[in-house]
Amino acid sequence: MSAPFQLKPLPFAEDALSPVINAQTLGFHHGKHHATYVNTLNKLLENDPLKDSSLEEIVKAAHGKPEKQALFNNAGQVWNHDFYWNSLRPNGGGKPTGKIGDLIKDSFGDYDKFKSEFANAAVTQFGSGWAWLCAEGNKLTIRKTPNAESPLHMPGVKALLTIDVWEHAYYLDYQNRRVDYANAVIDKLLNWEFAEKNLG
Ligand code: MN
Repeated sequence: MSAPFQLKPLPFAEDALSPVINAQTLGFHHGKHHATYVNTLNKLLENDPLKDSSLEEIVKAAHGKPEKQALFNNAGQVWNHDFYWNSLRPNGGGKPTGKIGDLIKDSFGDYDKFKSEFANAAVTQFGSGWAWLCAEGNKLTIRKTPNAESPLHMPGVKALLTIDVWEHAYYLDYQNRRVDYANAVIDKLLNWEFAEKNLG
Protein backbone atom coordinates (compact mmCIF):
# COMPACT_ATOMS: atom_id res chain seq x y z
CA MET A 1 0.00 0.00 0.00
CA SER A 2 1.36 3.42 -0.98
CA ALA A 3 0.23 7.08 -0.87
CA PRO A 4 -2.24 8.51 -0.25
CA PHE A 5 -2.26 6.79 3.13
CA GLN A 6 -5.46 6.51 5.17
CA LEU A 7 -5.88 6.91 8.91
CA LYS A 8 -6.60 3.34 9.99
CA PRO A 9 -9.50 3.02 12.44
CA LEU A 10 -8.66 2.16 16.05
CA PRO A 11 -8.75 -1.63 16.62
CA PHE A 12 -11.18 -1.03 19.55
CA ALA A 13 -13.91 1.45 20.51
CA GLU A 14 -12.78 4.87 21.77
CA ASP A 15 -14.07 4.11 25.28
CA ALA A 16 -12.82 0.48 25.37
CA LEU A 17 -9.56 1.25 27.25
CA SER A 18 -11.23 3.33 29.95
CA PRO A 19 -10.37 4.04 32.73
CA VAL A 20 -6.69 3.34 31.94
CA ILE A 21 -6.85 5.58 28.84
CA ASN A 22 -10.07 7.54 28.53
CA ALA A 23 -12.14 8.19 25.39
CA GLN A 24 -11.22 11.88 25.35
CA THR A 25 -7.50 11.03 25.18
CA LEU A 26 -8.07 8.47 22.43
CA GLY A 27 -10.30 10.90 20.52
CA PHE A 28 -7.60 13.57 20.41
CA HIS A 29 -4.70 11.16 20.07
CA HIS A 30 -6.11 9.17 17.16
CA GLY A 31 -8.52 11.70 15.64
CA LYS A 32 -6.20 14.75 15.79
CA HIS A 33 -2.54 13.81 16.40
CA HIS A 34 -2.37 10.57 14.40
CA ALA A 35 -4.67 11.99 11.68
CA THR A 36 -2.41 15.05 11.29
CA TYR A 37 0.64 12.85 10.76
CA VAL A 38 -1.24 10.97 8.00
CA ASN A 39 -2.40 14.19 6.29
CA THR A 40 1.03 15.83 6.50
CA LEU A 41 2.70 12.68 5.19
CA ASN A 42 0.38 12.65 2.15
CA LYS A 43 1.15 16.33 1.43
CA LEU A 44 4.91 15.76 1.71
CA LEU A 45 4.70 12.78 -0.64
CA GLU A 46 2.92 14.67 -3.43
CA ASN A 47 6.21 15.66 -5.06
CA ASP A 48 8.51 13.05 -3.58
CA PRO A 49 10.01 10.10 -5.49
CA LEU A 50 9.09 7.88 -2.50
CA LYS A 51 5.36 8.41 -3.16
CA ASP A 52 4.93 4.91 -4.62
CA SER A 53 6.73 3.19 -1.72
CA SER A 54 5.14 1.44 1.23
CA LEU A 55 5.05 3.14 4.63
CA GLU A 56 7.84 0.91 5.97
CA GLU A 57 10.01 1.61 2.92
CA ILE A 58 9.48 5.37 3.34
CA VAL A 59 10.46 5.26 7.04
CA LYS A 60 13.62 3.31 6.26
CA ALA A 61 14.57 5.39 3.20
CA ALA A 62 14.02 8.76 4.89
CA HIS A 63 15.79 7.89 8.17
CA GLY A 64 18.98 9.82 8.82
CA LYS A 65 18.65 12.07 5.74
CA PRO A 66 18.51 15.75 6.75
CA GLU A 67 16.61 16.72 3.56
CA LYS A 68 13.96 14.05 4.36
CA GLN A 69 13.57 14.88 8.08
CA ALA A 70 9.94 16.06 7.82
CA LEU A 71 9.05 13.03 5.73
CA PHE A 72 10.75 10.72 8.23
CA ASN A 73 9.02 12.35 11.19
CA ASN A 74 5.53 12.04 9.73
CA ALA A 75 5.95 8.58 8.17
CA GLY A 76 7.61 7.33 11.37
CA GLN A 77 4.82 8.70 13.52
CA VAL A 78 2.14 7.06 11.32
CA TRP A 79 3.92 3.69 11.57
CA ASN A 80 4.56 4.09 15.32
CA HIS A 81 0.92 4.96 16.07
CA ASP A 82 -0.45 2.05 13.99
CA PHE A 83 1.91 -0.16 16.02
CA TYR A 84 0.92 1.44 19.35
CA TRP A 85 -2.84 0.92 18.86
CA ASN A 86 -2.17 -2.74 18.12
CA SER A 87 0.06 -2.98 21.21
CA LEU A 88 -3.01 -2.25 23.37
CA ARG A 89 -6.26 -4.12 24.02
CA PRO A 90 -9.09 -3.97 26.53
CA ASN A 91 -8.42 -6.34 29.47
CA GLY A 92 -4.85 -6.94 28.35
CA GLY A 93 -1.58 -6.61 30.23
CA GLY A 94 -0.30 -8.59 33.17
CA LYS A 95 1.92 -11.63 33.14
CA PRO A 96 1.90 -13.43 29.77
CA THR A 97 2.00 -17.20 29.36
CA GLY A 98 3.24 -19.41 26.51
CA LYS A 99 6.21 -18.58 24.30
CA ILE A 100 6.38 -14.90 25.30
CA GLY A 101 6.09 -15.80 28.99
CA ASP A 102 9.06 -18.18 28.65
CA LEU A 103 11.11 -15.56 26.77
CA ILE A 104 10.40 -12.94 29.46
CA LYS A 105 11.66 -15.29 32.15
CA ASP A 106 14.68 -16.16 30.05
CA SER A 107 15.57 -12.58 29.15
CA PHE A 108 14.73 -10.58 32.30
CA GLY A 109 14.66 -13.16 35.12
CA ASP A 110 10.99 -12.70 35.89
CA TYR A 111 7.92 -10.67 34.94
CA ASP A 112 8.45 -8.03 37.67
CA LYS A 113 11.97 -7.29 36.38
CA PHE A 114 10.61 -6.99 32.82
CA LYS A 115 7.89 -4.66 34.06
CA SER A 116 10.25 -2.36 35.95
CA GLU A 117 12.67 -2.22 33.01
CA PHE A 118 9.89 -1.41 30.52
CA ALA A 119 8.36 1.26 32.82
CA ASN A 120 11.82 2.68 33.48
CA ALA A 121 12.47 3.08 29.74
CA ALA A 122 9.12 4.87 29.39
CA VAL A 123 9.91 7.22 32.28
CA THR A 124 13.55 7.97 31.41
CA GLN A 125 12.98 8.74 27.71
CA PHE A 126 13.76 12.46 27.97
CA GLY A 127 11.08 14.50 26.20
CA SER A 128 8.89 12.89 23.56
CA GLY A 129 9.35 9.36 22.33
CA TRP A 130 8.60 5.67 22.68
CA ALA A 131 9.43 2.66 24.86
CA TRP A 132 9.72 -0.69 23.07
CA LEU A 133 9.77 -4.39 23.84
CA CYS A 134 11.93 -5.95 21.11
CA ALA A 135 13.31 -9.30 20.01
CA GLU A 136 17.03 -9.44 19.25
CA GLY A 137 18.34 -12.88 18.36
CA ASN A 138 16.74 -15.24 20.89
CA LYS A 139 16.39 -12.61 23.64
CA LEU A 140 13.83 -9.94 24.43
CA THR A 141 15.18 -6.44 25.03
CA ILE A 142 13.84 -3.05 26.10
CA ARG A 143 14.68 0.05 24.10
CA LYS A 144 13.59 3.67 24.04
CA THR A 145 13.60 6.06 21.08
CA PRO A 146 13.13 9.85 20.78
CA ASN A 147 10.47 11.60 18.67
CA ALA A 148 9.56 9.48 15.60
CA GLU A 149 12.42 6.97 15.82
CA SER A 150 11.68 3.24 16.12
CA PRO A 151 13.38 -0.15 15.86
CA LEU A 152 12.14 -0.35 12.23
CA HIS A 153 15.47 1.00 11.02
CA MET A 154 17.66 -0.91 13.50
CA PRO A 155 19.22 -3.99 11.88
CA GLY A 156 18.49 -7.19 13.80
CA VAL A 157 15.92 -5.58 16.10
CA LYS A 158 12.27 -6.61 15.83
CA ALA A 159 9.61 -4.52 17.60
CA LEU A 160 7.05 -6.54 19.59
CA LEU A 161 5.17 -3.88 21.61
CA THR A 162 5.39 -0.14 22.19
CA ILE A 163 4.24 2.51 24.65
CA ASP A 164 3.80 6.07 23.35
CA VAL A 165 5.37 8.43 25.89
CA TRP A 166 4.63 11.72 24.12
CA GLU A 167 2.67 13.89 26.57
CA HIS A 168 -0.39 13.78 24.29
CA ALA A 169 -0.67 10.06 25.09
CA TYR A 170 -1.27 10.55 28.82
CA TYR A 171 -1.58 14.18 29.89
CA LEU A 172 -5.40 14.36 30.06
CA ASP A 173 -5.57 11.20 32.18
CA TYR A 174 -2.35 11.37 34.24
CA GLN A 175 -1.01 14.96 33.86
CA ASN A 176 2.73 14.77 34.60
CA ARG A 177 2.61 11.24 36.10
CA ARG A 178 4.13 9.35 33.18
CA VAL A 179 5.16 6.50 35.51
CA ASP A 180 1.52 5.85 36.51
CA TYR A 181 0.47 5.78 32.85
CA ALA A 182 3.30 3.37 31.94
CA ASN A 183 2.57 1.00 34.81
CA ALA A 184 -1.18 1.04 34.07
CA VAL A 185 -0.57 0.22 30.40
CA ILE A 186 1.78 -2.64 31.32
CA ASP A 187 -0.63 -4.03 33.96
CA LYS A 188 -3.90 -3.64 32.07
CA LEU A 189 -3.54 -3.00 28.33
CA LEU A 190 -0.55 -4.74 26.69
CA ASN A 191 -1.66 -6.95 23.81
CA TRP A 192 0.43 -10.09 24.27
CA GLU A 193 -1.20 -11.78 21.27
CA PHE A 194 0.14 -8.96 19.07
CA ALA A 195 3.62 -9.40 20.61
CA GLU A 196 3.54 -13.13 19.94
CA LYS A 197 2.44 -12.51 16.33
CA ASN A 198 5.36 -10.09 15.84
CA LEU A 199 7.80 -12.73 17.13
CA GLY A 200 6.98 -14.66 13.95
MN1 MN B 1 1.17 9.73 20.00
